[in-house]
Amino acid sequence: MNPNLLDFSLEELKDFISSVGEPPFRAAQLWQWLWQKGVTDFADMTNLSKTFRAKLGEEASAILPEVAEVLTSTDGTIKFLLRMSDGELVETVLIPEPTHYTQCLSTQAGCAMACTFCSTGTMGCARNLTHSEMAGQVVVARNYLRDMQMESKRLRNLVFMGMGEPMLNMETLIKSLRTIHDDSGLAIGARRCTVSTVGIPGTLEEFGRHDMALLAVSLHAPTQELRERIMPKAARAYPLDQLMDDLRTYPVRPRERVTLEYVMLRGVNDSLGHARELVRLLSRLKCKVNLIAYNPGRTSLYKAPQPEDVTAFSEYLCSKGMTCTLRKSKGQDIAAACGQLANQSQGS
Ligand code: SAH
Repeated sequence: MNPNLLDFSLEELKDFISSVGEPPFRAAQLWQWLWQKGVTDFADMTNLSKTFRAKLGEEASAILPEVAEVLTSTDGTIKFLLRMSDGELVETVLIPEPTHYTQCLSTQAGCAMACTFCSTGTMGCARNLTHSEMAGQVVVARNYLRDMQMESKRLRNLVFMGMGEPMLNMETLIKSLRTIHDDSGLAIGARRCTVSTVGIPGTLEEFGRHDMALLAVSLHAPTQELRERIMPKAARAYPLDQLMDDLRTYPVRPRERVTLEYVMLRGVNDSLGHARELVRLLSRLKCKVNLIAYNPGRTSLYKAPQPEDVTAFSEYLCSKGMTCTLRKSKGQDIAAACGQLANQSQGS
């Protein structure tokens, strides 16, 4: 099989170009076509010589995830069901904000962590996504916005909060972030990227050292016992006191914070008592809390919290001086909201 040029880093593309006997500047041109312009048909790369284009056609390929289905929510959220070349299905979501789009990216086909409240967790994990599949999701979304003439709002922010556990696909995550940041690549800066993780032992230090995206950690409970009930696999593998120790030494820039995500589940982790325990747990940590009201999904184990409990919880955190935001749920009608990504197409 011809190599997929979208799986290469810029360095690897340069090596490939020299291996086929072309001058180095060809690599930069090709890289811009692929990542900046979103063009994958070599014939359309008009500043490359005809013979070079023909050679590429014989010796290489440029394959993006294929759009199998697009669903648009009444609130403007757009969900893409993507089919990978081996048939695996993955979802990515474009979330409209007042001035821009935020894209939610997947890092694996499915997820092995099996958190009890998350639909993706019911699928198991088929495999890690490749570089062309991870960073390629951004190209697919940009091409869609261009084709639909919806570019008045730019795709500006990325959150790695779709299917999968990013830290279990670290190598490709870092390689993809490099392509995403590259000025002649996707040109989305590190401060506009957030990676969310349940916390995988031994990965935070490495991720922090790269300094290539902001960190969000899915906490969801103030105690080890409750966290083990809600997300048994993640919590047992990485006991809460160890996770907290590692977060206290996690490198953050002066005005930045690690985000702690907290999905509120009615009657499970949403009382004022839990809020008090949470304040105690986080007292010595530079962080902000992002509350997310549970979105119903495949698992019917839980209910969404009562609005007044969400308000009371968040007001308590604020009264204790914590920075706390409430994530607005978008795309629920097309199962595109947090925790709802499970490859259901419209008919099913
Ligand atoms: N595996 C990583 C990346 C996925 S992020 C992680 O868990 O952090 C997915 C986000 O959606 C997490 O913050 C997760 O806790 C949240 N989520 C999952 N299921 C949800 C649900 N049913 N309702 C609301 N949020 C949910």
